[in-house]
Amino acid sequence: MDTRITALNAREILDSRGNPTVEVECTLACGVTSRAAVPSGASTGEREAVELRDGDSKRFGGKGVLKAVAHVNDVIAPDLLTIDARDQAAIDETMISMDGTENKGKLGANAILGVSLAVARAAASASDLPLYRYLGGPGATRLPVPHMNILNGGVHAHWQGADFQEFMIAPYGAGSLREAVEWGAEVYHALQALLEQKGLSVGVGDEGGFAPHVQSNEEPLELIVQAIAKAGLRAGTDVGIAMDPASSEFFEEGRYHLRTENRKLEAGEMVEYYERLVDTYPLALLEDGMAQDDWEGWKRLNHALGDTIELVGDDVFCTNPAIIAKGIEQDIANAVLIKLNQIGTLTETIAAARLAMHHGWGAFVSHRSGETVDSFIADLTVALDTGHLKTGAPARGERVEKYNQLMRIEEELGIAARFAGKHAYVRPVRF
Ligand code: PGA
Ligand code: ZN
Repeated sequence: MDTRITALNAREILDSRGNPTVEVECTLACGVTSRAAVPSGASTGEREAVELRDGDSKRFGGKGVLKAVAHVNDVIAPDLLTIDARDQAAIDETMISMDGTENKGKLGANAILGVSLAVARAAASASDLPLYRYLGGPGATRLPVPHMNILNGGVHAHWQGADFQEFMIAPYGAGSLREAVEWGAEVYHALQALLEQKGLSVGVGDEGGFAPHVQSNEEPLELIVQAIAKAGLRAGTDVGIAMDPASSEFFEEGRYHLRTENRKLEAGEMVEYYERLVDTYPLALLEDGMAQDDWEGWKRLNHALGDTIELVGDDVFCTNPAIIAKGIEQDIANAVLIKLNQIGTLTETIAAARLAMHHGWGAFVSHRSGETVDSFIADLTVALDTGHLKTGAPARGERVEKYNQLMRIEEELGIAARFAGKHAYVRPVRF
């Protein structure tokens, strides 16, 4: 098989929010063509790699990505032609130096990542290997616990509901990925019925979870525990709960501003708030409990809860190996969120996850709130053996495509397939 790159073509497509994003096609000399699409966040970390937007207010309110598309077609492609697509790390390194900035602001991380992922997929396809096996080798056999965001708040619900952004269910007691998906969908529908019964809205947020108008950030937890029981499952034993408050979004002038509860909390009070929730509900994982600039708050949180549950840093680390290394040194968390487009190449994403895991930290793979039907992260999660991922509600095409891909992988692995279950986390499940 001749795996040299013969063409790279980018185009502007739409994401799940109706905003433009980049899609790249990579063609190899052997005739294989593969495609990848880039996701886009809304509650983004300050130190994320730059998502290049045109800023031309006459198109898509300035959100067009034609500059990034042109960078792929006119700048990156000519330099990568005839390079072997299996040389992933060298290809990513070439694009990083071509860009020359710290944050990929010149070519755009959306341009670079589109190429990086399309190249990987083409190389896998030309090697006649499924993507998870090409990336992960023969040991890539463990299916992750899906973390399904069934109740949305914060910016993903346009601040109409809870302050906390994501309330997820983790069906870690299931015997397989397929069963976990089934349980997740059943709890999702039970929650819908419960909300209807209570006269609450069943409109959904950006990630497909319901976005009811609640009175506190505890009410969703109460509703989810009830929904789990309504679905005939046991909260804590069969299905755990995870939260991503995305607290940088409501950290203002040094305090955490909970609008639904009309309260402003100091870091110490915020930590106490979480401690009480962990005592009361079967929480297995808390992401972005503290804000990206509040490293002291993070340390306090890790001191209080780091031995009990998994504490994941998203905005605070931005999938950036240099920042993660600092976080490990300063002991501010025990896990890292892994988002491809926060750092902008596949190689750096793998490095970020490995760095975390080599230090006994968790790596929690994630979609973005603006997604496409590209299911790259499903394969990546199995390849990296991270044991868990989050990719939205068990509803809406761009979310379920990842869960569906995981079910395909499990089926293909057959008797070799393992389900991470309660071993998904850096801290043992308490139930
Ligand atoms: P985003 O949200 O994709 O809008 O950044 C996801 C998250 O905060 O984890
Ligand atoms: Zn987050």
